[in-house]
Amino acid sequence: MAPSSPTLKSIDRLLARWGICSRAQARHAVAAGRVTVNGASLLDPDTWVDAANDQICLDGNLLSARPKATWMLHKPVGYVTTRVDHRARPTACELMPRDLPWLAPVGRLDLETSGLLLFTNDGDLARTILDPSSKIEKSYVVRCSGPLMQEHLDHLAAGVDIGDGAGPTRPARAELLARDGYECTIRLVIHEGRNRQVRRMVRAVRAGVLALHRERIGPLSLGDLPAGQARALSADELDQLRIALHAARSHNQSPPAADV
Ligand code: URA
Repeated sequence: MAPSSPTLKSIDRLLARWGICSRAQARHAVAAGRVTVNGASLLDPDTWVDAANDQICLDGNLLSARPKATWMLHKPVGYVTTRVDHRARPTACELMPRDLPWLAPVGRLDLETSGLLLFTNDGDLARTILDPSSKIEKSYVVRCSGPLMQEHLDHLAAGVDIGDGAGPTRPARAELLARDGYECTIRLVIHEGRNRQVRRMVRAVRAGVLALHRERIGPLSLGDLPAGQARALSADELDQLRIALHAARSHNQSPPAADV
C-alpha cells in the first residue's frame, strides 16, 4: 500500500514529477545503479523515497525539482514523435533546443502529420491535456482526396465509427475550406485523441488524407512559428491553456442532480 505522506513517492514517479526524466528512463537509471538515496545505491525503481528529506543523486549529482517548462514545436512532416526511433528516423525531440531541461512530447503526431506539438516537464499539465475526459479542442486542417460533400461533413461532425472498438467519435466540427476538382481541404475540430483519429475519421467517410496539419490545441496556435522551430509558451499562453482545460472539463462533466 502507498505511504500516506504527500512527500513520499516511488523514485521513478518522483524523478518524472521533478522533470528530471520520464518514469521509464528513471527505472532504467535506477536499475543501472546510477541513483543513490542518502548515499546508498538503489536498485529497485519501486522504492519509496521522501522528496522533502532524502538526498537523491543521479550520477553523483544532487537532484531537486526542475523549473517547469512548456514549449511548442512546429513539427514538420517526416519526424517521428518518439524520443528514440528504432528505425533511426529523425525525431521531433531532435528539433528541440539542446540546452533545455528534459521535456517530453505531450501526445504524438504521426510521421506524416505536421503542426503543433507541445513539450513539457510538467507531468500534471501533460496528464490533464491527455486525459480522455479533458476534451480540449484540437483543430486540424486536412487535404483530402475524394469529393467530400456536406453530408460527409455532417457525418464527420456527428461521429463516425473508426473501427477501434471504442464506439463513434465524439461530436466534432467539420467545415469545408476549399474545393479543387477531386480534392478538398477541410478543417476538423475534435475533442479527443484516439490513435490516428483524424486519418481514420476521413477514411470512414470514404476519402483519403493527402496532408494533415494540426493548427491549434485549445487556445494555442502556431502563429508564424516556422516548421522545425520551437518556442517556450508565454505565461499568458499557459494561463489561457489552464483556463481552457478547466472549462473543457467542467463543461463536459455531468450536471449535478436537480434539487428535489
Ligand atoms: N490524427 C491523426 O490521424 N494523426 C495525427 O497525427 C493526429 C491526429
